[in-house]
Amino acid sequence: MGSGQVTDSSAPFDFRGKHVTVAGLGVSGVPAAKVLHGLGARVTVVNDGDDERARTQAAELETLGVTVRLGDGATLPEGTELIVTAPGWKPDKPLFTAAHEAGVPVWGDVELAWRLRDRDGRKAAPWLAVTGTNGKTTTVQMLASILRAAGLRTAAVGNIGVSLLDAVTGDEEYDVLAVELSSYQLHWAPSLRAHSAAVLNLAPDHLDWHGSMEAYAADKGRIYEGNRVACVYNVADKATEDLVRAADVEEGCRAVGFTLGSPAPSQLGVVEGLLVDRAFVEDRHRNAQELAEVSDVNPPAPHNIANALAAAALARSFGVSAAAVRDGLRAFTPDAHRIAHVADVDGVAYVDDSKATNTHATEASLAAYESIVWIAGGLAKGATFDELVAGAAKRLRGAVLIGADRTLIREALARHAPEVPVVDLDRTDTGAMLQAVQEAQRLARPGDTVLLAPACASMDMFTNYNKRGDAFAQAVRELGA
Ligand code: ADP
Repeated sequence: MGSGQVTDSSAPFDFRGKHVTVAGLGVSGVPAAKVLHGLGARVTVVNDGDDERARTQAAELETLGVTVRLGDGATLPEGTELIVTAPGWKPDKPLFTAAHEAGVPVWGDVELAWRLRDRDGRKAAPWLAVTGTNGKTTTVQMLASILRAAGLRTAAVGNIGVSLLDAVTGDEEYDVLAVELSSYQLHWAPSLRAHSAAVLNLAPDHLDWHGSMEAYAADKGRIYEGNRVACVYNVADKATEDLVRAADVEEGCRAVGFTLGSPAPSQLGVVEGLLVDRAFVEDRHRNAQELAEVSDVNPPAPHNIANALAAAALARSFGVSAAAVRDGLRAFTPDAHRIAHVADVDGVAYVDDSKATNTHATEASLAAYESIVWIAGGLAKGATFDELVAGAAKRLRGAVLIGADRTLIREALARHAPEVPVVDLDRTDTGAMLQAVQEAQRLARPGDTVLLAPACASMDMFTNYNKRGDAFAQAVRELGA
């Protein structure tokens, strides 16, 4: 198999006897190796690490007849005709340079799933795809809920729930898939062609991986390539609209915007507390279709209403009724730690948005409440906080700072919100969150919201953002006790 043979995405791909190198054990690598082996490919897995977990995974694959090379992810195995890489592997790795020089194509897990989607004569389910810096998981889950309400066989696939590879190779049959895609996955998925796709928003993230904001945006923009029915963009985020303009799509495919304001023709938006569609209606210049009430969105925070509109646009592009959009949104409950209301104590609401691990997510979270005692801090990952703090200053009753990089936030508060009282906690033990919540309680007045929206990663103090959110909820329960 030469490189030329693997570039035609429309032709069924015959893996039998082909030398395929899987780059990276782990979440996507092990299942990819198994599927490829099952299709008759001669599979070699290469992996940088050589730890105990890798050895266990390697042993399992070797019993199947897969070759595994631990501790060497840089050398291209002799005879490789195709590389299937874990999405997180950086494009500048020596393995890929070697592949490029040898004319060997590189696919990611999404590309592999895309190429396998219509095996065995089964009708392949179209993909409704979602990317963006924040809100992907929530939007894809809302979308799946709407599609289910329409009576369609579907699944939310991607980072959570069913894996893409399982969804396309498993026994379960689907009418349509709601697919979450990261910028890494899009980078490695050159021939993906969605039915419709949405880019929710675009803020600097993962720039060390992509190399520049332009490269990051370009990878996100790949989601629109070849769309058949609609490219859904965020009216408030011009960069998403620019990506639609730059995309090559199928004839007749439309640009559809979503907005928290009143929608223009070819947009979905909000009018007097209602989500309204002016894109997928007869005579969109004169007509609009009511889809749902804002209060049907859970939680009805502005950024989440935007997510609901994006999900609705994708569902409507697939012909779903207005009633199913409403029923699907009503049936949706967000995952834990995403603006989760934990309890009210003495007239103060306690909200856990531990998943707000970057400033863009935290900005959305802070915009959702009028008067806030903000619990923030952790690992800043190179972020700066001036813009975030300046934008939220008027709504801050106070701030309680935790974690390794809390000084950066404290300095931003001193610059842009000098009147806001700040409690700086320098302990990192397990009792720290309880103290943070107690300090927040002292600062709060009835009607306020105590909001955990750290704008930072959690790993300096917690195993992950789930554990951080759990510690917050536990501390709130202790207040109420
Ligand atoms: P992702 O899958 O992109 O990480 P999630 O749905 O898990 O997105 O949400 C991640 C974080 O981003 C949460 O803290 C949430 O409050 C915030 N968020 C969700 N939707 C948006 C949005 N449209 N804009 C900005 N922040 C958002």
